[in-house]
Amino acid sequence: MVNPSFENHPEFFFPSKIDKNIMVYDAEAKKMVVKKSQEAEIKLAEIPFVRLRDKLNWDMDKKLSFKEQVQAVEYSLQQNYCLELDLENTSIVYQDRVVKLTPLEFSIYFVLLDSKKGCNNKECIRCAKCFLNPREFPVENFILILKKIWGNWSLRVENIEKRLTTKDTLSWFLQNKSRINSKINSVFKGKHLEIVGKKNYGSTTYGVFVVKEQVKFKGFKLFSN
Ligand SMILES: [Zn+2]
Repeated sequence: MVNPSFENHPEFFFPSKIDKNIMVYDAEAKKMVVKKSQEAEIKLAEIPFVRLRDKLNWDMDKKLSFKEQVQAVEYSLQQNYCLELDLENTSIVYQDRVVKLTPLEFSIYFVLLDSKKGCNNKECIRCAKCFLNPREFPVENFILILKKIWGNWSLRVENIEKRLTTKDTLSWFLQNKSRINSKINSVFKGKHLEIVGKKNYGSTTYGVFVVKEQVKFKGFKLFSN
């Protein structure tokens, strides 16, 4: 490291063989001054270096902005943690912390993550192909999970099924999404576990931007691998 006035100066090279006077900007005096190149102070700085290239486990030909690369690495690092969906307790477990959901909320979250787990996209990291359109919400999958929680002959399940097969599912979904997200955010703010929407040709699909390999279903598996 070199002191600021010499930093990035086109006439200053380290090490400078011949002492010469160069015009530099003096930040304290706030003006240009002449300084001898010998006045440059060189300090060795320790810069931490962490090799994360291998965490960018996708096609490097894809042009990604710096921000996107950082995000991709963050998502990759997330894989070290498992996101567990615990059917028996209708809870989300992540990094030893728990979000308790109602059976309805849990079943919605389950269906979204089941879709993510079944995604055919090899690079399903920032992938929204596996997101679902609430208007085409897979009610039958959702009902299957609810039956696991409330029992096959539950009247509550029957009523919900009736409601979802006869009326529009969008507003129902959005209300539940907000409730789920506020519960998740109260425990895991900034951990990317909340349900997000992605605009797609005029309609919006919803899902969770987690790495599919980290999702584990405890107590019950649905259709995908
Ligand atoms: Zn996907």
